[in-house]
Amino acid sequence: MNVYHYTFKFREPYQIIVDSNIIIKCSDSSYNITNGFNKTIQSENKPMITQCCIQALYDTKNEKAISIAKYFERRKCNHRTPINPQDCIESIVDINGENKHRYIVASQDNELRSKLRQIPGIPLIYINKSSVMVMEQLSDASLKYSQNFENKKLIAGLNDSKAGKQVKRDNEKENDGEDDGKGEGEPVKKKRKGPSGPNPLSIKKKKKTGSENVNEEKKEKKPTRRSKHKKVKDDDDTNKELKEDTNKELNEDKTINDDTNKIEEEIPNNDSNHEPAE
Ligand SMILES: [Zn+2]
Repeated sequence: MNVYHYTFKFREPYQIIVDSNIIIKCSDSSYNITNGFNKTIQSENKPMITQCCIQALYDTKNEKAISIAKYFERRKCNHRTPINPQDCIESIVDINGENKHRYIVASQDNELRSKLRQIPGIPLIYINKSSVMVMEQLSDASLKYSQNFENKKLIAGLNDSKAGKQVKRDNEKENDGEDDGKGEGEPVKKKRKGPSGPNPLSIKKKKKTGSENVNEEKKEKKPTRRSKHKKVKDDDDTNKELKEDTNKELNEDKTINDDTNKIEEEIPNNDSNHEPAE
């Protein structure tokens, strides 16, 4: 469900439009459909049934199937005269070629699922030949949409071509977490450091008289991670002293200026770190 969540903006509880035929299938094989949905989606979900689908169940007089369907929330379809369940589902899911309401569709009907595969962003669920509920792989249409989505975000969010290549390779797996961690961690440190800390330039000069020039060059060109961490430590040591300092306000003014510069530089990188997750 990750791609559906990030690319197609699905949100919990995920709404499932349940076809009457999958209810009958589960009922006949005594398969607990609710447990099946929970296992397959592994997130909070809300099965729903349209008026036409429940009418189709009433028509079968399959009491067991009807009793299952009664637990599901009704989805109004406004078909006053009930129509074919699959046509009904298609009509509420496919809104001008878009899964506007972000439905998952659970159906045993091959033709319906085949039609819905043409529309990007419709998770499709069915009971396979081994009587296991499964979610279909991302359809070609969904895959295409997802790739375009990623590319657009890359182009918009990245100035650094190297980072772009990395993101593409990383795809959407474990690396995301790491990237996210770093991406969020660094700016937070800097932000905290900025307002409360003193002007790093002035302190460094006091403490490390020998290495002034080297430090300044590093800052202006490429602030490396090591130098950042050093700065953090230095600042922490000196923070206590400086908080009592009467020059506090002056220092804050200076650091705010420093900070705004830094934030502007960091925004593109920060966005790119979130890229693969979405
Ligand atoms: Zn209907």
